Amino acid sequence: MTTARDEQSRDVHAHGRWYCIGQRPLRTILWRTGLQHLLESLMTSKLIRIRAHAALAQSHRCIYCRMPIWEKDSKQFMRQFDLTHREAELLRCTAEHLQAKQDGGRDSRSNIAAACWYCNSRRHQAHAPLDPDDFAAHVQRRVNKGAWLPGSLATRLQAHINASSSPQSPNLGKRLQNRQQLN
Ligand SMILES: [Zn+2]
Repeated sequence: MTTARDEQSRDVHAHGRWYCIGQRPLRTILWRTGLQHLLESLMTSKLIRIRAHAALAQSHRCIYCRMPIWEKDSKQFMRQFDLTHREAELLRCTAEHLQAKQDGGRDSRSNIAAACWYCNSRRHQAHAPLDPDDFAAHVQRRVNKGAWLPGSLATRLQAHINASSSPQSPNLGKRLQNRQQLN
């Protein structure tokens, strides 16, 4: 004969066992998700640090088109160069993997340069992306013809640069050479 107390005890036990069975995978999932999230955020912050280092070494100029780039303050950048929000977004600083990640390129200082979003996306959109040196030469030819970046953006930026006579970083042209020496 089962009493009400026995019924209650069985319920509690069953309830507890359900949690015991259910909790283990749930905990594992949460733990793995948390760990993955932590690893991803650590990787992201490492990449941001490397990118910031590259941007500084390049005096905040894109490795390919050599136009000014910004990291944090788009509004200040827009004011400085008289740009729209959309134009400024094209010049957002990105971490450019000189050797693409899919080809084994690492998140290392020697493999990461600062490039504007426009150049970075153009290089990797190609079916067979050019080598960084060839791509830099290609972009420079287009810049000189006024045929890189939409509209008159490159020309306007160049006019701003000339007016402020801010010298181009001597490190900029050396970044690709340094990479070859380090690799
Ligand atoms: Zn660029």
